[in-house]
Amino acid sequence: MKSLVKAKPEQGLWMQQSPVPEIGPDDVLIRINKTGICGTDIHIWNWDDWAQKTVPVPMITGHEFAGEIVELGKNVTDLTLGQRCSGEGHLIGKNSRQSRAGHFHLDPDTRGIGVNEQGAFAQYLRLPAFNVVPLPDEISDDIGAILDPLGNAVHTALSFDLIGEDVLITGAGPIGIMAAAVARHAGARNVVITDINPARLALAEQVTDLVPVNVANEELADVIPRLKMKQGFDVGMEMSGNQVALDQMIEAMVMGGRIAMLGIPPGKSPVDWSRIVFKAITIKGVYGREIFETWYKMIAMLQNGLDVSKVITHHFDFNDFEQGFAAMKSGTSGKVVLDWTK
Ligand code: NAD
Ligand code: ZN
Repeated sequence: MKSLVKAKPEQGLWMQQSPVPEIGPDDVLIRINKTGICGTDIHIWNWDDWAQKTVPVPMITGHEFAGEIVELGKNVTDLTLGQRCSGEGHLIGKNSRQSRAGHFHLDPDTRGIGVNEQGAFAQYLRLPAFNVVPLPDEISDDIGAILDPLGNAVHTALSFDLIGEDVLITGAGPIGIMAAAVARHAGARNVVITDINPARLALAEQVTDLVPVNVANEELADVIPRLKMKQGFDVGMEMSGNQVALDQMIEAMVMGGRIAMLGIPPGKSPVDWSRIVFKAITIKGVYGREIFETWYKMIAMLQNGLDVSKVITHHFDFNDFEQGFAAMKSGTSGKVVLDWTK
């Protein structure tokens, strides 16, 4: 099969022939239709410090996918051949305290497809049947291929009650934009999103009803009276990984505000803890998605009017993956989807 492989410990990815994976009794084989390119794949392409420490070579990359089940392991009785699906790319252990309590997304023994295990940028993927998420007819393969990052957005956004709340999202990357759409869908009052990249803010406005603020030339504080908010934001979602954005968020929160942090700062970054204490702010770190509660909720929302389709800005044939990665690296794209069906 064709597969996009980290074949050498240096910059780049290479399209190579790999054997179709053999499945075990509890696995399924999925024929891949569409995949999404993630920031993680860019780290692996660039072969940065994190990738060098984390990813063994050779490794088929990719973890955002939609496809169709073409083979069932002998113990798999609750799925069918031909079933369209996406799936959770975090392969969990069953022995940790967290897993045994049903908190699968907190399992410390988690292994990621396309990172620690062979991934989804290929014509076929082996996946434990446990990880499969069937797709209803009304969810397209394009949307199926971005459920992983939509899940990050949903898990972050649903960390705190949003109904009637004023919400600040810092970072209008694909995940920040999708989180804004989720906050709007869930009943937030005002949704404000910040970025320093006008192209990203313009895309955010196309996807959902929100107030974009370019913090490169506009003060966030000026927006608060304009939106008739008395103090500041009730709920914050940090989705940039940028220290300045987090500082601005802490400043713009109400007393007792709640912040969910998905963005990954590049290293240790200083925080003004006294502001957090005196404003009695709650900060929650968010990792991945809840397995499988987030999947359940996002599929239900997609079936009930949540529309994130405009966040997909580019489609390429898998053979043109270099163009897809270039679009991602430009920093102005939304989600980039590769088609593996041809
Ligand atoms: P992205 O890099 O595409 O988007 C980040 C955005 O933040 C960019 O548009 C950038 O211009 C903007 N930004 C930079 N400085 C800013 C500032 N000072 N104020 C406001 N915006 C600023 O990332 P993404 O794919 O949308 O992911 C969002 C974040 O979530 C990233 O940090 C990513 O690493 C992280 N992430 C975390 C998890 C997790 O499980 N915790 C999973 C996926 C992604
Ligand atoms: Zn991803």
